[in-house]
Amino acid sequence: MNHPELDIERITRQLADAKALLIDQSFESKESRATVMLDQQSVGRLSRMDALQGQAMAQAEEDRRQLAIRRIDAALARLDRGTFGECIECGEWIAVKRLEWDPTVLKCIDCAE
Ligand SMILES: [Zn+2]
Repeated sequence: MNHPELDIERITRQLADAKALLIDQSFESKESRATVMLDQQSVGRLSRMDALQGQAMAQAEEDRRQLAIRRIDAALARLDRGTFGECIECGEWIAVKRLEWDPTVLKCIDCAE
């Protein structure tokens, strides 16, 4: 059973929307993560370093997005199985406020600490 005090439909929609947004952002940032290929003659050493740094930052952001997508997928799977809102540690219901703050949390506040 999913958490009885939650609007499961709303949470599902919220998670799906968040995932769609992350996928969009990932797609849009594809270019800035592409291999830095600069013409050595026209671009100075400094701007090449800038480009590499920008690429590294874009990649770090992408890693964060992919992690968030995996967490959302896991939450959607729990909704599917009917175990959403259950603490994976103690099996008690996670507080509604906590789930509304972050629907991808896996543990109740006591077990998370
Ligand atoms: Zn717990």
